[in-house]
Amino acid sequence: MTELLPWQAGAWTELVKRHRKAGLPHALLFTGLAGIGKHQLARYTAKWLLCLRDEDQPCGQCHSCHLWEAGSHPDYLLAQPEEGSKQVRIDTVRRVNEFLSQTPQISRCQVVGLRPVEVMNTNAANALLKTLEEPAGESFLLLETERFGSVLPTIRSRCQRFVLETPPEAAALGWLSAQGHAAATAAQALRRNHGAPLRANDWLRADQAGQQQRLLELLVQWSRGAAPLQATADGWSKLELSDVTHWFYGFLSDCIKVSMGVPADTLTFGNEVSLVLGGATPSAAKLIPLHDKVKEILGRLLSGAGHYNKQLLIESLLIEWQALLYDRQ
Ligand SMILES: [Zn+2]
Repeated sequence: MTELLPWQAGAWTELVKRHRKAGLPHALLFTGLAGIGKHQLARYTAKWLLCLRDEDQPCGQCHSCHLWEAGSHPDYLLAQPEEGSKQVRIDTVRRVNEFLSQTPQISRCQVVGLRPVEVMNTNAANALLKTLEEPAGESFLLLETERFGSVLPTIRSRCQRFVLETPPEAAALGWLSAQGHAAATAAQALRRNHGAPLRANDWLRADQAGQQQRLLELLVQWSRGAAPLQATADGWSKLELSDVTHWFYGFLSDCIKVSMGVPADTLTFGNEVSLVLGGATPSAAKLIPLHDKVKEILGRLLSGAGHYNKQLLIESLLIEWQALLYDRQ
């Protein structure tokens, strides 16, 4: 069933209001953090636009709504990266263009979902521009991005933006509890995932807490010079590189905050910082270059542009981290 998430009622009212007032634009770009439900909202919007009745939500009963729930609506196309890839490629955009060159079969319009719009190579983007500019008949493009700043300006300028806020903590915790997570672990998962409930849910299901604990234990030993590089890097390498980098990035960010006087117990990774550094924090000036480097690597990994030798990369990060520690006095 395509439903709204509990915290999306306000966003939905706003969207319906926009549509009633001036009609939704040909291209609508949903923006907001990963894991807050952009895709759910986009799908609900698609179902609504296709619905044969003119109500303030999809009716759930018409032929269109039935086809939607069966996953076989002929007037809807979801365009996203192929399995194993993170980039929307030109073939995918060509499929969109071809789909939109037809006429609607059941509904009054055609709807295309396109995600993520920030990871698109130049050829794919150029092919999309024409479609954004010259809508073929009655059609809607519902685009999604978690990094608005990385969307090509030529695409951005041709879309209307719809910003989704991170949900209030109480709503997020309530939803996580409904997914079967205990309050304390749900709260921890939410903090680790920037308040994004869907991401926190995935995180808990994948036992990221246990995996991160392992990363931490290895880093403690390594930082004390009590473990060899090879074993530490092997341990870290057991996890997805993007997960390791994401964790290390969060850890380094909090190290910098501690070095500038923020109390560790107020920070997401405060406990980790205290355990690894034991009160002797390197200066921010020393931490920032490594922090920025990890941030850049993470950005490349998330955009699908990063191709790294996992073991070598982890070893080099660990070596840089240790050099920074030996240099702190
Ligand atoms: Zn309907």
